[in-house]
Amino acid sequence: MAEHLRAVKGMNDILPPDSVRWEWFETKVRALMARYGYANVRTPIVEPTALFVRGLGEVTDIVEKEMYSFEDAMNGDKLTLRPEATAGIVRAMIEHNALYNGPLRIWSQVAVFRHERPQKGRYRQFHQIDVEALGHVGPDVDAEQILMCRALCRDLGFVEGRDVRLEINSLGQPPERAAHRAALVVYFNDHAEALDDDSKRRLLTNPLRILDSKNPSMQALIEAAPKLVDHLGEASLAHLNGVRTVLDAAGVAYRNNPRLVRGMDYYNLTVFEFVTDLLGSQGTVCGGGRYDGLFEQLGGKPTPAVGWGMGIERMLLLLEAVAAPMPAPLLDVYAVVPSAAAMSAAMVLCEALRAAGLTVFMHGAGSDGWGSIKTQFKRADASGARHALIFGDAELARGEVAIKNLRVADAPQRSLPLARAAEWAAELRNA
Ligand code: ATP
Ligand code: MG
Repeated sequence: MAEHLRAVKGMNDILPPDSVRWEWFETKVRALMARYGYANVRTPIVEPTALFVRGLGEVTDIVEKEMYSFEDAMNGDKLTLRPEATAGIVRAMIEHNALYNGPLRIWSQVAVFRHERPQKGRYRQFHQIDVEALGHVGPDVDAEQILMCRALCRDLGFVEGRDVRLEINSLGQPPERAAHRAALVVYFNDHAEALDDDSKRRLLTNPLRILDSKNPSMQALIEAAPKLVDHLGEASLAHLNGVRTVLDAAGVAYRNNPRLVRGMDYYNLTVFEFVTDLLGSQGTVCGGGRYDGLFEQLGGKPTPAVGWGMGIERMLLLLEAVAAPMPAPLLDVYAVVPSAAAMSAAMVLCEALRAAGLTVFMHGAGSDGWGSIKTQFKRADASGARHALIFGDAELARGEVAIKNLRVADAPQRSLPLARAAEWAAELRNA
């Protein structure tokens, strides 16, 4: 056999049975979005590189070292596999003038790509649920989005405080950030000898990003640095308090974390993260906040906006960590087909059962034939199906099929007239 190829490092295949968990999660997400009236959008995986450089900021981890960028071999266009969802969505909103009729609340499920060091909970292709409210100025939508995230965590069976915690902060407005930035520059210059190389460079380009450093030896210095909250004006504080008022009224527990900054430059005012202690240093499962300046930065009309991105892989790892129960078996029926002679009749009945709303899996011939009845029953059992239907020649000749309940130990086999199959299906559905 020829040597086989492998997936790109840090990019995962999602196969059964893991994909069952994915689909279950996605069902919960869709139901959540419907409950809150968020509409689905889908944008391309590939965007012009300039979109992310302009949108995320040149001096960010993502743009500096994590993007999969390439030139289109046909025309030399500079392109990038999206490293996050928001910039592409905002581009699409501007391009289609989608806010013409007023504000929009939308969501998307996206594959994103970042060239990071792969480890548990950190991959090079990963997936996000992304939520955006576009065109709203008030703290109400900021709070709504936090409530949505809490609701999803509850739907998934997480316990607040134990499995996930909420942290919030305000990044203020650009002039407040400028005042804070000036104070930071003075502070870090006074402690220049303690800065690592990355931070020294960032001191000249984007000092706020130093606070984002993951270098453990920098943490004490960062902890004692001037805080942005001390530079916030009245309006910014009022916005933050507006969010807190709703969270308090709705009984949401949170921690004010003045050190919370986000990895992209586009955020202002509210920022928040849902974090867990159960996934080591990959503890942020959801991050979001306001980005009122991004539309203008990308050439659109000034448009207030707020959103969050949730890492699906991390949410699923967290589900495993808390051993949340998994969904019941998916199949109502596994059709056992002893020989090719029964195949056509079996397929017709399976179609009728599916049309009646049952989930039906029919055994298929492999390269070594249909296999023994014993083998087929083993498969039927392993499939998790509730019933096996056995299409024996003798039964078919009498216009019947045999049924065995696979979930009751030693259940007797009984026969069902083919003409009554739809009735049986209806009984099973209502059971
Ligand atoms: P981190 O600080 O862990 O690098 P981030 O701030 O870069 O996260 P965001 O850009 O806010 O993450 O993305 C939203 C969510 O996507 C994160 O909260 C996290 O759950 C998930 N995420 C981010 N990077 C990865 C990755 N490389 N692999 C898997 N999930 C990721
Ligand atoms: Mg990151």
